[in-house]
This record gives sequence, C-alpha cells and structure tokens, in this order.
Amino acid sequence: MRRLLFSASASLCLGLVPGCATLPAPGPTPAPLPSPTATGRGGAAATVDVRATAAAIDILRAGGNAVDAAVAAASVLGVTDPYSCGIGGGGFMLVYLAREGRVVTLDHRETAPQALERSRLYENGAPIPLEPLVTSGLSVGVPGSLLGWDEALRRHGSRPLATVLQPAIRVAEQGFDVDPTFFEQTRHNVERFRDFSSSAALFLGPDGQPWPVGSTFKNPGLARTYRLVAQGGPRVFYRGEIARAIVDTVTHPPVVPGAARTVRPGVLSLEDLAGYEVHVRPPVTSSYRGYTLHGMGAPSSGGLALALTFNLLEAFSPASLSRADFLHRYLEASRLAFADRNAFLGDPAFVSVPEAGLLSRDYATQRRSALDGARASTLAAAPGNPLPFQGGATAAPTSPAEPLRRAAEETVLNKETTHITTSDAAGNIVAYTCTIEGEGGNGMVVPGYGFLLNNELTDFDLPATMDAPHPNAPAPGKRPRSSMSPVLVLEDGAPVLALGSPGGSTIITTVGQTLVNHLDFGMPIHEALAAPRVSQRNSANHVSQAEPEFLSTPEAAALIARGHGFTDVGPLGATTAIRFNADGTVTAVAEPRRRGGGSAMVVTPVK
Ligand code: GLU
Repeated sequence: MRRLLFSASASLCLGLVPGCATLPAPGPTPAPLPSPTATGRGGAAATVDVRATAAAIDILRAGGNAVDAAVAAASVLGVTDPYSCGIGGGGFMLVYLAREGRVVTLDHRETAPQALERSRLYENGAPIPLEPLVTSGLSVGVPGSLLGWDEALRRHGSRPLATVLQPAIRVAEQGFDVDPTFFEQTRHNVERFRDFSSSAALFLGPDGQPWPVGSTFKNPGLARTYRLVAQGGPRVFYRGEIARAIVDTVTHPPVVPGAARTVRPGVLSLEDLAGYEVHVRPPVTSSYRGYTLHGMGAPSSGGLALALTFNLLEAFSPASLSRADFLHRYLEASRLAFADRNAFLGDPAFVSVPEAGLLSRDYATQRRSALDGARASTLAAAPGNPLPFQGGATAAPTSPAEPLRRAAEETVLNKETTHITTSDAAGNIVAYTCTIEGEGGNGMVVPGYGFLLNNELTDFDLPATMDAPHPNAPAPGKRPRSSMSPVLVLEDGAPVLALGSPGGSTIITTVGQTLVNHLDFGMPIHEALAAPRVSQRNSANHVSQAEPEFLSTPEAAALIARGHGFTDVGPLGATTAIRFNADGTVTAVAEPRRRGGGSAMVVTPVK
C-alpha cells in the first residue's frame, strides 16, 4: 500500500481564506486507490474514504491502537466527508478491549440545550414542520464528537488528541480532490449554503456553484480549529473561543441579506457547551445461535432493536427454510421489533426503558405469536408488553401519543452519517458511527472555524399535542433517540465481526440484514455487505423499502407472493466491517459501490 503523502498545492488558498478550491493542477498527491476489501494482519480499518482509512492505517503502523486509528479516521472524515460527520455533531463508539475481553460504549450524542422547552418547537399549537426545523438554530444539539474522541483516547487510546489530529490537519490544509460524491452532496445543499455567508464561502465557488469534480478543496478554517484543539484541548471548543462562535452562530444564524428562508435562531448557551458530558455505558448484550451480540444502548435504539429482531428470529432455522421464507420471518421480526422500539426507546436519563423485559427470551417467545410464518402482516404492528418480563411491574404500558412530526431519522431516508471500523494487532476493536444528522447538518458553517453544525434535534418526535407523553419527545438536556448501531459479534468469547452503517432508522435493518447474510446465509462478509438491501420498520402501509437490485431478486418475487410489498428507495446505507478470520487474519470491508465506494486496508496484507 502506498502511504499518503500530500505535496503543497500551487493554489491561491492562503492563510485563513475559507472555502479555497483550486482548479486541477498540481493539487495534492493523489490518495491511494481505494479498495473495498483487504485481508491481512497487524490491524485494519474500513471507512467511506480512502484518506480516512489511510490515516487510521498510518497510525496503526506507527504503533497506535484501534482507538487512535478510529479517532484519526473520524477527524479526517470531518474534512473529507463534512456533510456526514465532524466536530459539529456526535456519535456512538463501541470499543472491544482485548486484554480484558470487555466491551464499553461511549455515548457522545448531541444534547438539547437547557432552554429548549418543548414549547419552543411548536408554533400556533402545532409542531414546527421538519424542513424549517432542519435549517435552524433550534435543531442544533450540543455537539459531542470532540469530547467523545478525547474521552475515548484518554481511557483506551495510546496517543493524545493533539497527535491523532495531525493527519486531519494536513488534509484540511493541503486539500483533497473533489470527487463526484462530494460534488453531489454539495449540489444537494446549494440552495441552503447560499443563504449562509459562512457556508457559501466555504463550500461554494465565487459563482455560487459547488467546486467542480477534480478541483482541490481545502479547509484552512477547520485546519486552524483542529490546531487550536491540538494546542488547547477540547476546552477551547467547549469553553473557549470556539464555544463562543458556536453559540453566536446558533443564536444569530449568519443568514445573507435578502435570503428568502426564515431561519429560526436557537437557544444554545455557553453553559450548555461547558456542561456537555460523554456517557460511558455498558453495551446491550444478547445472543443469537451461539454468537454474542454487543450493540449500542439507549439513547440509541440500535442495540435493542437488533436484539429484539434476532431473539424473534432465533426460533427459525435458516437450514430448513428457503431463503425467501427466512427473509419473510426476518422482515416480520423487524416489523415487531420496530413497534417496540418506537413505543419504549428514549434517553434513559428521562425515560425508564424496559431493557430487561425487552431482552428477555420469554418475552420473545410470547411476542413471536404475533409473527405469521406464512403471510406478511397487512397492518402496522402494535407494541408488546415487556413489563411483566422485567421482574416487578406488571401494569400494561401506556401507549405513547402518536407523533405528528416523527423523528427525522425515521421519515427521511438519510444518506449521510458515517461508520468507521478499526482493529489493531493486540486485538482491540472499534465500531464507531458518527453524524451531523442530515446531509450537510443544519447547513450552517461556524464562521471562520470550517465545520457544519448538526440538526440532530430533529431526531426527537413531536406529538401532535404539546404536552402529550412520548419517550422520544424533546426536553431540556435530553438526547434524541438514535438508530446508530455499531455492533460486535463474538463466538466463544472471540471476536467474529464488527460493523455498522449510516442510514437513519434503516441503519438497524442494514446491520441486521448484513448479519443475516453472513451468519445465517453463510455469505462471505464482502458479499454479505454488497448484497441488495430491504428494510421493514413497521411502516403504516406495511410496505418494505428496498434497493432496486433487491426488487429483481427471486426472493423479492417469493416475498410478494407471501403478501409483502416494496417501494424502491435507492441505495440503503454505507456499511463498513471487519471480519476476524479463524486463521488469525482479518478482512476489512467497505462498500464496493454505495456512496461512491469505500476503502478498506490492513497493516500487513496477505495474498
Ligand atoms: N440521526 C440519525 C441517528 O442518530 C443518523 C442519521 C443517518 O444515519 O443518516 O440515528
């Protein structure tokens, strides 16, 4: 593998001029050619972007561990994939500590400001619609990424944040070639970016258009921000000049004169930033056919929704059923799991999530009676009652109010967010999903600092009535429910597979289907990941969403005969994974095609 080397570009981008791009010519040294699969030893990394994967591999080669590598990759992705993730957002990191045989998770989800009373998200008695909320100060949660990276490195890394940020500083300063994916993502945001002086200055050319494919994109503002953090630590972000700039942006959005858009200011304060905390949580652990599954707990719904699905599915044998019959049961299990997820999941600091009941085998046995092995349900599934399986409370749970404005991650087929998977020679593993929520977050770049703010608070559900109870309704200091699903699978205590994906609530079904493909259908991991996807999330019209390639499979025809319906929604997810092979090698895998194809590398390749 070629190492990443960047030459100084003969660009006109000097000093702190934001949004510098140059037309082709000399530009940065090209990145290594991305390959979606790599097998070898000594550590591995898989991401959507070859520069991020290369940064992870470089740090592993220099003696760093899987946590160092994951943070290095995440900080590079903040530069090269700025519409999906970065220090303006948050995430969930799952870490396997090989020496202790232990899994920990770091919740650095964005948090609602203390002044964000629910009433602020309603106007004239009705929820503010999604679109104006996305591009507003009101949807910005306190960003968690930077403190998450620092906490992960302090607890489990081997390098300080200042060291780990260096590759990202280089990429931000020296630039990278705009590829068709970056161009398209900018194009989708052009109208919004034009309305904010800081965003237009960074992401659009002087003509107000996206920088063209092949031009060199630099982000000196973000390089400076990362340098400030490298020198002063996360404190400069949470208590210093960057905190002040974030609060100013949220409360006084940098809207250009004459913009037609109404941009509602938010209520984020310096105290909110200073009080931000990373929560270290145990994983949600379940078992499936002899495998142990570790996933992300609340406020993510990922770990529990996957455990619910697989607890239901375990009663059916893939060996004695056709692939279509097994997939039918998988889709129906996913439907039931989502009914429970929607009814019970929320921030555990605010909601009593009946985790033990939901995870109980007896609950799964009872719940399975709602699964028809022959026909697809034509109705949305009602939630079950896990409380009698909690030990203690036996009263039926009260149904949450039906939200009028559902969480964005459920309704919008988000193509953004990103997942990083890393491992090291000592056997440590990281599965890390991070996001700024929508493509381009809330559209506002913090002026002078080169990063977009998140719109994560659109992941709250807004009941039609302002004071109706709902586990995922907003409240001051609350974290919105997520679907992010970093997962680790072990067999007899040994890691088998780590993976995750973006995709809003389809994250759960993408990870679930990849597990079914690999563990149940026996597909090699690269095939399991590339296979066409389908997603059933208890939709009101009972129809599943599918990729066009899935619709032309024999399984789709067989499922239609069993009463399933499908809508074509284009590509789902952008998964990365690492398979730990029986011979001691590992196989890192990224998407061969989705989102322009990803990049997998290992420290020492084997043929
Ligand atoms: N905001 C979503 C979540 O937390 C992730 C968005 C996406 O994957 O596109 O689940």
